[in-house]
Amino acid sequence: MTIKLEIHSTDPEVIALIQRYWALNEECKPVENVSAMLPFREVLKPHALAAYIKAHCTVYDENQNCSVCGSALVITSRSEVKRFKQHPLRPCAVCKAELDEARRVAEAKAEADLQERVAQHTERVIAKKTDYSTIPNDLAFVLMALERAIAPRLFGGRFTFNDCQALAPTHSEMFINRLWKSGVLSDDPRAAGTSAYFANANELNYDPNKIRFMLVPDELLGGGEEAFNELVVRPFTNEGMLALWYEYAVADCMAYLNNQLQEFRQVFPVHKTEEIKSAIYTALKYYSTRDVWSLLWRVVQTVSSNSNHKYSNKERSAGTIASKLRLQFEKARKEKTDLGEWNRLKSIPAGTLGQLFYELYDIDETTDASVIIKALSDEEPLDREEIEASIDAHVKQLMTSALANGSGAAAIYDLAELIRNGAGISDAVEQIAEIYAKHPAEEFSTC
Ligand SMILES: [Zn+2]
Repeated sequence: MTIKLEIHSTDPEVIALIQRYWALNEECKPVENVSAMLPFREVLKPHALAAYIKAHCTVYDENQNCSVCGSALVITSRSEVKRFKQHPLRPCAVCKAELDEARRVAEAKAEADLQERVAQHTERVIAKKTDYSTIPNDLAFVLMALERAIAPRLFGGRFTFNDCQALAPTHSEMFINRLWKSGVLSDDPRAAGTSAYFANANELNYDPNKIRFMLVPDELLGGGEEAFNELVVRPFTNEGMLALWYEYAVADCMAYLNNQLQEFRQVFPVHKTEEIKSAIYTALKYYSTRDVWSLLWRVVQTVSSNSNHKYSNKERSAGTIASKLRLQFEKARKEKTDLGEWNRLKSIPAGTLGQLFYELYDIDETTDASVIIKALSDEEPLDREEIEASIDAHVKQLMTSALANGSGAAAIYDLAELIRNGAGISDAVEQIAEIYAKHPAEEFSTC
């Protein structure tokens, strides 16, 4: 017998009943059916008998042991009896109570630690200051777009990632993260509460759906509208703007791609996000945003049709989006495909970043890639001394020849024309020198 009875009764009839009930044969099966023991006093039904027995006796099965202390486990029904020794899987009641208590203590300590860490973090947040006048050009631009997207909450208010969706067609959180990282925005535990945070190893982590942000005040003028308008709103330069445009335009294309995949009941391959963004980025260097929409539309048509093939499915087909886009892009470049004039979908607004790009730089989804590169390029022009040094030889040659030919005025006039049409100083001098150093003015005009 592998079971041990602990009988809580001194009534001989009850003791006899319990022994009959728990009598087992060699195979550990009950010797008697319950119906044979009924009725017993006021007990008439089998389930009532089981409860009666349970109330008067604790049963241990020595083939089942506590996973912690190894003692025999309590069983409550005859079907639970095991004929052979079992691998210990669960703790006994005493050990379980101890484990539960230890867990409760650990959880309470973790909660207290979290409270403490959030409190320390809150103190640091309250003390945060920044210098608005040193915010880089591109970040000031994003901040201005953010102000427009969540007005009037940027000044003194708190906002979530979700509140900032009007910033860009999609991936607004990417721009918020940049502002956060640079110290212009801060999370504010006072607004979000401790539940927005959790401790991960030694770091304080956050729940993106609960975290709330605020504008960090300027160290001199504070965080009001006045300080913002004085120091953040400024004459914008091109510094960092081309990279920002590409980030924005990639988001614009991702929004379009997602929309079209939904439209054609296809899936978005999340694990391929970076690969797709990279292919879009490459295409945007040569094509306007709306041309890339056109390429993406073609890609979605192919993906959608391929997903119905016998040996494919939606996931497998969606996995090829990036490579299909690269193929479409190469094909369009080689064959100079007419990509048509795609219009912005009403469901994908340009966002406040898009509005500002249009207002301040006169570019949008229809602008050619080459025009954008020219409009936003922040390559520092060579300084004057460098330019002078680079054109010195040409200028000497040009002036000597032009004066000797009597075409000095024409050479200067043509030089001015070239520069007015957008040529750089060095390029223009080189071109004019090539012509006037050898030929008289008349020949140039017929070139
Ligand atoms: Zn135990």
